[in-house]
Amino acid sequence: MRAAVMTGVKQPFELREVERREPGPGQARLRIRASGVCGTDTHVWHGSYMSVPLPAVLGHEPVGVVDALGPGVVGLAPGDRVGVGWVQRGCGTCIHCARAREVYCPDPVTWEQNGGGFAQYMIVEATGCVKIPDALDWLSAAPMFCAGFTVMSGYRNGNPKPGDRVAILGTGGLGHLALQIAKAMGHEVIAITNAEDKRDSLKSMGADEVVVVDQHAGRDLKAIGGADLILTTSNNMKQTSQVLSGLRDEGTLVTMAVADEPFSVKPVLALTRQFTIKGSGQNVRGDLVEVLDLAAAGRIKPMLEVYRLDEVNTVFERLDRGAVRYRAVFDLGDQA
Ligand SMILES: [Zn+2]
Ligand SMILES: [Zn+2]
Repeated sequence: MRAAVMTGVKQPFELREVERREPGPGQARLRIRASGVCGTDTHVWHGSYMSVPLPAVLGHEPVGVVDALGPGVVGLAPGDRVGVGWVQRGCGTCIHCARAREVYCPDPVTWEQNGGGFAQYMIVEATGCVKIPDALDWLSAAPMFCAGFTVMSGYRNGNPKPGDRVAILGTGGLGHLALQIAKAMGHEVIAITNAEDKRDSLKSMGADEVVVVDQHAGRDLKAIGGADLILTTSNNMKQTSQVLSGLRDEGTLVTMAVADEPFSVKPVLALTRQFTIKGSGQNVRGDLVEVLDLAAAGRIKPMLEVYRLDEVNTVFERLDRGAVRYRAVFDLGDQA
């Protein structure tokens, strides 16, 4: 099978023929139909935050057709349309797995062990697969398995009340879905961006107001009334620190950023506003199911740049300079 292979940090990906493996016990093999490209893939490619044994096949937004089953799999059949997220299975024995909170498992099975979705086929843990609603096309389904899942959990972790005003900081692959989720849930939504050229598309996705940051993200947000909930996927820690001053009293900032640097909080601001800062990643599986249902119902729609697998180096170059609008997806429909 063909795969886009990472051979070294910041080295061009190579399209290679690699062995198509058979699924082991409890595993399935997917014939990949689409595979989204995430900011985290660029972190891996840059060797930041995590390292994987090389050569490696990346990709953790895969969707496809179940093509073969290993021994002992129940609940999946050949031909099923499924996708799988980052954590495919917990270790099964730790306290987090015992509590059915595999997200905290220190030793989970992920694409790192099984190989990722930038390939014609992928081995996955069967219990990690989630069926894709019939109404949802392959290309739109793929980004739900990381971007959509993450921001759905962020929204739920933010626990907004009906009528709350929601601001989105960071309007990329994740943020553009967070915006649409908040809108679908009936909130007034403010998109905060640095890119003037995104203004029209963010409006078309449902933003009631678009703030193109001038000097200070928080002051700019406060100037238009502030927000009860800020969902941030931005890796700009200066703006994350700033935006806290745009929170309304007892508001909440939910951070989903992948960044090493700290952001800062002025204690007197926290005291006077009594706000909450919460971290959020992909939480319960139900959040993924919910975002798939929202997409299938047409309530949210990812805006995609669609590529062939052999365009992988173009995709990573565009991601590196922040040019992707808003999610890049490989279309593997005609290649397998
Ligand atoms: Zn991701
Ligand atoms: Zn575990």
